[in-house]
Amino acid sequence: MSAALHTLGVAELGRSLDEGRISSIEITTHLLARSASHSDLGAFLCVNEEGAMAQARAADARRAAGERGALLGVPLAHKDIFVTESLPTTAGSKILAGYRSPFDATVVARLAAAGTVTLGKLNCDEFAMGSSNENSAYAPVRNPWDRTRVPGGSSGGSAAAVAARLLPAATGTDTGGSIRQPASFSGVTGIKPTYGVCSRYGMIAFASSLDQAGPLARSAEDCALLLSAMSGFDERDSTSAQRPRQDYHAALSTAREGATAARPLAGLRIGLPREFFPAALAADVEGAVRAALQGLERLGATLVDVSLPRTELSIPVYYIIAPAEASSNLSRFDGVRYGHRAAKYGDLMDMYKKTRAEGFGAEVKRRIMIGTYVLSHGYYDAYYLQAQKLRRMIADDFQACFAQCDLIAGPVAPSVAWRLGEKDDDPVAAYLADIFTLPASLAGLPGMSLPAGFGEGGMPVGLQLIGNYFHEGALLHAAHAFQQASDWHRRLPQGF
Ligand code: GLN
Repeated sequence: MSAALHTLGVAELGRSLDEGRISSIEITTHLLARSASHSDLGAFLCVNEEGAMAQARAADARRAAGERGALLGVPLAHKDIFVTESLPTTAGSKILAGYRSPFDATVVARLAAAGTVTLGKLNCDEFAMGSSNENSAYAPVRNPWDRTRVPGGSSGGSAAAVAARLLPAATGTDTGGSIRQPASFSGVTGIKPTYGVCSRYGMIAFASSLDQAGPLARSAEDCALLLSAMSGFDERDSTSAQRPRQDYHAALSTAREGATAARPLAGLRIGLPREFFPAALAADVEGAVRAALQGLERLGATLVDVSLPRTELSIPVYYIIAPAEASSNLSRFDGVRYGHRAAKYGDLMDMYKKTRAEGFGAEVKRRIMIGTYVLSHGYYDAYYLQAQKLRRMIADDFQACFAQCDLIAGPVAPSVAWRLGEKDDDPVAAYLADIFTLPASLAGLPGMSLPAGFGEGGMPVGLQLIGNYFHEGALLHAAHAFQQASDWHRRLPQGF
């Protein structure tokens, strides 16, 4: 069985562990060896060899003592933006080189309490700023479907590792698309819940009003298992939603009124914003997305035309608000409290300047400058305040849509994964590619990406589903129904 162990997803692994067909030690050993043999992908920033074996042993002991749990003994890894007590945390930045957190992020702690085994920390764009993982200060991540292409970002290590079957699932964060877009580029399933569903405690802040954690996995079912464990109120995050813990897995099999086995989505109205299908949308992406929508129709869903008229404006709005918050959040990296400090400096101001000049990469510096500019006296009203007003209008546009439909669907990104280096000289080109993920981020709505086919160069194409606030269950239910009737999410990149 061992050769195929890595093909097991979270749910299947949980069952195999329950039935005693494998042990956590076996799967952990297998996956550690597998990550080592695929280290050229650059997915891991740190591998937790000894720690993972100890956790696997502990999980096996808990099972031997009669304990059961869907995640008990299941290996995964965390995006390196979640702080961890026993492993280094870099946020993909040189400025945090050598940093050790005195505590675990809530998401990490909750998954550990559920009995997961942490295989390591995963590569990401520096402070989660990017869409290709090329802004990591350590190494680019390669897309397992084509090593000359990017895996998407900023949760690129998470997406590539899941796609390459180095692990069944991983955590990620999404500020403007960083779970959905890499999931789409790498052919895996990912969900960004409603803002406030997962605690941001211990998640290194990029843009606090937008940052959300979520899982990347093989399927909606696996995402549901992870999200149930990761989410829930946390008094240590003042923006955490005060709601009872949810069982997202149970939502998968909750039958809709009027549904039948063949038409599980009967009565579900799916809105297609016309702005999500512009003329500039790549034909291969549009083709795959439209075919997936037909698949949803066959399952009983009805497609309705809706409009999100400010879709294009979400780019300038996001690229004002996110840098503004980032410039403030990143002021804490000053050479005094965390990680790197310049070796040679004169006075205190000089130490700050040298530390930050050495520690931050080009994209992070660009955003600190933009953010400082839009928040400065005289520009605050013209840029930041205007952006905040538009943000509210974008959120209102969604509510107008949800009067006509239950879920919204469209592409995740305007094209398939691009080639490494392709957008190096043009950061704005990368910003523009965020067009379909930013609206839901600005509105704080849940969104997911699921494999929907293949496009140019045999690269995966993702379908995006967006729900109303706290409708993660409905999103996962629809995605699960789609995955029960299709096998895009089971496809493996060649050589894996
Ligand atoms: N691509 C977007 C950015 O560069 C989103 C990143 C994210 O969601 N963390 O900011």
